[in-house]
Amino acid sequence: MSGAWEGSDRVKRLPPGWRKLRARILKRDPICKICGVRPSRFCDHIVAKADDHSEAGLQGVCGPCHDQKSSAEGNAAQRENPRPGRTRPPEQHPGIK
Ligand SMILES: [Zn+2]
Repeated sequence: MSGAWEGSDRVKRLPPGWRKLRARILKRDPICKICGVRPSRFCDHIVAKADDHSEAGLQGVCGPCHDQKSSAEGNAAQRENPRPGRTRPPEQHPGIK
């Protein structure tokens, strides 16, 4: 495969006019909404994976906070899907109700 600019299929999930929307968010939130210190550089979805592309569901964040949020979301997803095995079903006690 060649010509993969961006190197991710996340781009395909973004709506038409995303660039304009992103510019509006960064203009609305010039300072990172998470740390409140660094200038915003990314347009972040407040609720991850909700695919809410409305302005209310987006916030401007700086690079470091964006990275931190992304990796935290990755860890949470792993926790929700623990490796199979090693979990026994609770013992049934017949006769006890
Ligand atoms: Zn920040």
